[in-house]
This record gives sequence, C-alpha cells and structure tokens, in this order.
Amino acid sequence: MAQKGGLEKLRNIGIMAHIDAGKTTLTERILYYTGKTYKMGEVHEGTAIMDWMPEEQERGITITSAVTTCAWKNGVINIIDTPGHVDFTIEVERSLRVLDGAIAVFCAVGGVEPQSETVWRQSDKYKVPKLAFINKMDRVGADFRGTVRQMKEKLKARPVLLQLPWGMESDFKGVIDLVEMKAVQWLDSTLGAEFEVSEIPSELAEEALEERERLLESVAEVDDDLMERYLAEEEIPTRDLLQSIRRATVELKLVPVLCGSALKNKGVQPLLDAVNQFLPSPMESWPVAGVNPNTGETEKRRANPHDPLCALCFKVMNEEGRKLCYVRIYSGRMEAGGEVFNASKENKEKIARLLRMHSNKRERIQEALAGDIIGVIGLKNTATGDTLTDFDHPLNLEPISSYEPVISVAVEPKTAGDQERLQLCLNKLAEEDPTFRVKTDEDTGQTLISGMGELHLEILVHRLQREFKVDANVGKPQVVYRETVTREAQGEEVFDRELSGQHHFAGIRVEVRPAPRGEGNRAESLLDAETVPAEWIEAALSGAKEAFYSGPVMGYPVTDLNVVVLSGNFKEGQTSAMAVHVAAAMAVREACKAADPVLLEPIMEVEALVPEEFVGDVIGNLNSRKGRILQITAKAGASIILAEAPLSRMFGYSTDLRSASQGRATFSMRFSHHDVRTQ
Ligand code: GDP
Ligand code: MG
Repeated sequence: MAQKGGLEKLRNIGIMAHIDAGKTTLTERILYYTGKTYKMGEVHEGTAIMDWMPEEQERGITITSAVTTCAWKNGVINIIDTPGHVDFTIEVERSLRVLDGAIAVFCAVGGVEPQSETVWRQSDKYKVPKLAFINKMDRVGADFRGTVRQMKEKLKARPVLLQLPWGMESDFKGVIDLVEMKAVQWLDSTLGAEFEVSEIPSELAEEALEERERLLESVAEVDDDLMERYLAEEEIPTRDLLQSIRRATVELKLVPVLCGSALKNKGVQPLLDAVNQFLPSPMESWPVAGVNPNTGETEKRRANPHDPLCALCFKVMNEEGRKLCYVRIYSGRMEAGGEVFNASKENKEKIARLLRMHSNKRERIQEALAGDIIGVIGLKNTATGDTLTDFDHPLNLEPISSYEPVISVAVEPKTAGDQERLQLCLNKLAEEDPTFRVKTDEDTGQTLISGMGELHLEILVHRLQREFKVDANVGKPQVVYRETVTREAQGEEVFDRELSGQHHFAGIRVEVRPAPRGEGNRAESLLDAETVPAEWIEAALSGAKEAFYSGPVMGYPVTDLNVVVLSGNFKEGQTSAMAVHVAAAMAVREACKAADPVLLEPIMEVEALVPEEFVGDVIGNLNSRKGRILQITAKAGASIILAEAPLSRMFGYSTDLRSASQGRATFSMRFSHHDVRTQ
C-alpha cells in the first residue's frame, strides 16, 4: 500500500510535543479526518486511539500501536509514536532515526517549554525536518506571535509563517492561508471535517499582505532561485513557492509554522497537506549508517527496495501473549513467510506475518519495501534496537554499547507469593526495553534490575505496580561498574578431564591487550585454519567471549579488551570443542589477572537549563560532585550547563537541583563513557 503511489508519496512522521500541548488530541483528529476512526475520541472521555503512555492510561485511554498508518489525499502517512520521556535518550534518539520528519506541537499559551528544547536539539542533531503547529489558539492567553518568537530565541529555529490565526481565544475562527491568500473557516456542525474557503476579511487584509511579503522574503533568503525572481519583483506562482518551501524544510533551513485548535477541530487538514507537501519521503531522507560486523567498517544504506535488506526493530510489544515487533525498513524488502538475519544477535529469524497497523485494524500484507514501517510477528529472539538484514549483508545500526546499563537495584515482592509473577513481569518489561535488564544475584539470590538511570528504574517499578499489579520493595541504587586491563599479558590453561567416560583435553594460550576506551571487546584467533578444525576455532573464540561476562576484580563485565588466541595444544581423539571452549575461557581469565585489571565507572553527561541567578550555585554543586564543566551557553535569561560527572556522585541530583533553583532548573542526564574509577 505504501508503494501504491511510490515511495515518494510516503511520509514517516512523529509528533513531538511537551506534555499537555495537545499531541493526543491532534493525533485523534488526524485519524478522524483521514477516515480511519469512525467516532472522534476525546481525551477526557478516554477513547483516544494511539496512546499507551502510562499517564494517559491512568486517564482511561486505550493502548494500541507504536505506529499508525493513514492515508491523506494521494499520500500515505505513518505516524510513529515518540516516547514521552526525554530522559530515555536512547529511546528518543532511536525514534528520531525511525522517522523522516516531524510535527512539533506547541501550546499557544505555554509557548516553548524547556523540555521541548532538549528534544528539538536532538532532532536537529539527527537532521529531522520539522513543521510547527501552534495549538490551543482558542485558549485564553493564546499568544501566536510570542510562541513564534520563542521558537527563534529558545530553539534557534527559523520559523516561517504559512498562516495567521483568524481571531484569537474564544473568538478563534480559523486561519489565513498566506500561500493561497485565502481565509479558511471550519464548520462546527461536521466536527471540523468540512471547511469554507473565502476571501481574506478586510480587517486582516493588510496584515496578511505584510506577512505574505515576509514569507517570500524568508524563503528567498535560503533559496537562490527564488531570491533572483523575488528581487526582480517577478510574480511567483504558488507551485514554485511551495517547492521552494519544501526544499528549505527538507534541508532544515526553515520551519513552516501553522496554527489551530485540535480540540475545537480547526486547522488540522492544512497541517496534513503540509506533511504531504513539505516533509521528506524516505527517499530524500539521509542514508542510515551502520557497522558491518564482519569487517568493522561503516556502511550506508539507501532507500532502495532492490538493495540488500536493512531494517531496525524499534519497538517490541507483547499483545495478548503474542510478540509484535515494530520494524522500519531502510533498504531492501521483507516477505511474509521469509527469513531474515538478526545481525545484532547473529541468528536467523522467521517472519510469520507482516502487518500494516491502522489505528482500528491490522491488515496482513505479503511484502513490505524500503521506507516502510510495519508490524512483524514471528521474530523470536529480536529485541528493541536489533538490526535485521540479509544473511549475506549483515550490518549493525546501533552500537551495542549504547545499551549498557549503569545502575542497578534489588527488588523483591511485598508478598512472598508474588516472586514468580515478579520475575515474569520483569522479563516482559525487559523484552520491550533493551536498556533494562533483569538478573538474579548468584550469591544472595536477590533479583537485580538494571537500567540507564535512577529515573528509568523508578518508572519501571511504577509500571510493574500499575500495569502488572505487583508491589515491590526496592533497594538502594548501585552503580554497575565495568572492568578492563591496563597492559598486555598472556595466559595459558589446560583443561583435562574425564566426563562420562569420555576424555576432554585442550590447552589454549592467549594474549590480552587493552583496547581504546569505548571500543568494546574483540576476540580473534591465530590458530591455523588449515590444521585446526573450524569447530575448535569457533569454540576457542566463544570461550574467550564467555570470559567477558565476569572480570577478575569484582566480577563486573569486562570491556575494552582485545583477546588473541595464540596457540593450542590438542590431542588426537581426546580434544573436544567443549574442552577448547573451557580452556580458552580460563586462559583469558588468567591473562586478565596478570594484566593489571582496574574498575571502570560510568561517567554521565549532564545538561542543565538554569535561570541566570542560580548558575553559580548549580556549578558549585556539580563541582562538589566531582563534576567537570564542559560548556556554558547563555540563552535568554538562562544558561545551559554541560558537564560530566561520575554516576556514583550523581544520586539524588534532581532533589539538589530543585532546591538550588527554587524548582526552576531542569536537567537531563545520559551515559557518556566509562573511565577508570578514581577515589
Ligand atoms: P498531550 O499530553 O500532548 O497528549 O495533550 P492532550 O491531547 O492529552 O491534551 C492535553 C489537554 O489539553 C486536554 O485536556 C485536551 O483536551 C486539551 N487540549 C488539547 N488541544 C486543545 C486545544 O486546541 N484547545 C484547548 N483549549 N484545549 C486543548
Ligand atoms: Mg498524550
């Protein structure tokens, strides 16, 4: 279906909004006008279709989908749900990668909120073209111009007005279209499905002419072709103007601004037109890059259905006991009944079904092509963040290290009988969220959960209670350290044992070396492939990799380690793959012990938005936490402080920041890198 009009008619978009700006209401209206829902849902009635964030469930809204496909005029729009929480940086970044363009919704009363700044900056970094929709024009205190000004000041955006509001607050009627130079008014009787286009009312005529001039000027400034014609005072045909706006939007030079009131059913259809007209198709999107696991080289993939398959699983959900993976295809094609290679897990997977996800139904499809976003059933081992490819063209789109959890807590059920259920529910949550891990401490028997930060774990425990009705006691957060070595060393071990009447013998010699920080682990073999069976070489490498799980200092995972299997001692008839595996693991452990191993601790990147009068205090507090200030950028009335600090010193930071700034500073924190622990 997405291919019916060709790839160029497809739009993969997200809706970015600060909480309460009207994202749910707007999505509802979009689904209504695109004809996919029969009854218009109201947030307050609890019938909205797309939502599944917990706070909205609390308000009684049903969950469905991480992506919803709808058709508008001759295009197809996939709306991808973007995570509501900016603290889950990886989730936000992944969703930005999955979409090709976005609608940023602002509340005309609240303007640009600090949290929106963070997401906006990220979307710029990932080169996501945007439209702005200034919502709630019907509310008392709605300030269209003020919000546009804040977009310039706070977001450093170049907004260009395509519309003016017609009326304000309770008098808000519709919009003045500055491209067509018409007035548009919506009919309440049809819930805004119908609208009337008329001449611009005389009281707005002058302002509209001025703004039209400014529109031409703004576009001309970033479009040479238009600039020449503009300076020559040529009449610019609408078609050419639209094309210039599109080019500038796709190249992130301008952000077209529209306005309306989702709640009052005004302004939604022109926004959909703008999605079709100005946001890029998958073909115009930047090519994705990943690492070929066989060569370690970076490779790019373009939206071409005839190229090898490359797709990203960006969300896993369990629905009625069935696992549903949401997948974006970047290149190549997928077929129902076919096989794919999970390059992240290095195994083959079968595709049982491919589904196009509409808001009210799912449609089984036979095939999906580059550019598409679909639901897949049948992928047993695939988790969020995994890359799916052809067997012969593996690629990893996401660095594995981005999932390393940095903090852990012990959890136990409040009622003893809940232990099994707790485990089950935690495992379900872990499958949906690759940054969340569950394990049992072998020494104490405690259940440990680990994740990306204090808040991350808090929210998961909350979900456990809310969605699964399991109450749990939670221990104190602990830092998850890593281990590495600081010099080269060799180790040799022999495994020689009789097991169930069968002799198992192997001797393995290895060398370990520190790798540059952040590089991860690597194992290679110098065993002679001519004389040593491939199965034993495999076993030596898998044994070496097993040793990465638990380091010599305190048993934390090992990182940034290069292992070379140097030589082997094998005996005809006695050497088995099992013996080679165990000998290699033991040899690596011995070598690590001799290579001056150290603990590595997670260093976090902290970004705080602080009103001027509190900057001194906030910096002082960061210093006392061994923070290193990297950068201070002044913004209107506030500063953005960028700093690095060890996670172990950042516990309880949100409380400190709140009291140091009378609750006015906000911050986000993410894992940056590991560094040798100092103390
Ligand atoms: P979200 O948190 O961004 O998903 O926002 P919601 O769609 O849940 O809307 C938050 C609140 O604002 C709800 O009470 C909506 O009814 C209300 N709302 C949404 N859009 C508008 C609008 O255009 N005008 C007014 N007055 N209220 C709106
Ligand atoms: Mg919402």
